[in-house]
Amino acid sequence: MNAKILDGKKLQDKIAVELKKEVAGLKTVPNLAIVQIGEMPQSSAYIGMKKKFSEKIGAKVHHIILPLGVDQKGVFSVIDELNKRKDIHGIIVQLPIPKHLDRYQIMEAIDPSKDVDGLHSKNSALVYESAYGGKDQKNIPEGLVPATAKGIISLLKENKVKIGGIKTLIIGRSLLVGKPTAMLLLKENATVTVAHSKTKDLNKLCKENDIIIVAAGKAGLIGKGALKKGQVVVDVGTNAVKGGKTLEEHEKIKLVGDVVFKEAEKIVGAISPVPGGVGPMTVASLFQNLLKAYNMQV
Ligand code: NAD
Repeated sequence: MNAKILDGKKLQDKIAVELKKEVAGLKTVPNLAIVQIGEMPQSSAYIGMKKKFSEKIGAKVHHIILPLGVDQKGVFSVIDELNKRKDIHGIIVQLPIPKHLDRYQIMEAIDPSKDVDGLHSKNSALVYESAYGGKDQKNIPEGLVPATAKGIISLLKENKVKIGGIKTLIIGRSLLVGKPTAMLLLKENATVTVAHSKTKDLNKLCKENDIIIVAAGKAGLIGKGALKKGQVVVDVGTNAVKGGKTLEEHEKIKLVGDVVFKEAEKIVGAISPVPGGVGPMTVASLFQNLLKAYNMQV
């Protein structure tokens, strides 16, 4: 039997309906500023998806494109102005940014209450603290959580995947995906293991876990040798690969995850596809964050 599909597009549509209703009831229009440095085609495609979703729910996107060679000061002055503007409620600097810029300092320059990507240290600390599991955990605000991590949890919950007490493996330890996802899963009482590029016997580790979140950015990393019956697999990876049977198809770029979908779907209990799984959830969660930021400011 084939695995159940964890359909991110379907859930995105559901969230869009909810957000549209919420936006319609607000006095002003929530406005997301997206700062793009250079015009990498992949980044432009992601920004396009955000604009499309924003239109769908009645929010606004203010897209600023800075030249590839802009220096740190130039980026700071744009962020500074956006921080001050009352009509801007969320700010993101589209990642990745050129190597000559300091990503940490740039994230720190964003007003934490407008940091809808959740990468300012103040928001990271809240994600970390609110997951500690003590009696007063509920008193600690969650802050703004990185959208992909938030989207993964929503996708699992929507599909009624049991998380509490479940052995869960996250492959990848980045600030953007792996670590915040680990924190949110701990908050849901999962038993969490984090694997990374130096982890040994990854396939064996995978088989010891019942939920696997794969966020390594390595096409084909997880195949049948790592999987067992009944597992829930969330594939975060997005890899642009060339391929296809015919010569024409061979030249075409297509998007694949880190999991060999054709092998996995025959073994596991549920799996998120690429595209159509975590990607749409990241966009929807970003706009949930924008509404949260709006409500913190207005
Ligand atoms: P990253 O490069 O910052 O981190 C990758 C992580 O994977 C690292 O912690 C590394 O140690 C680990 N890793 C690499 N090779 C490994 C291996 N062979 N075995 C085990 N671990 C390994 O990347 P990121 O920003 O966390 O993104 C990860 C992937 O998720 C990328 O493909 C990215 O495009 C994708 N992504 C998708 C969305 C979405 O909305 N669908 C959002 C963010 C990121």
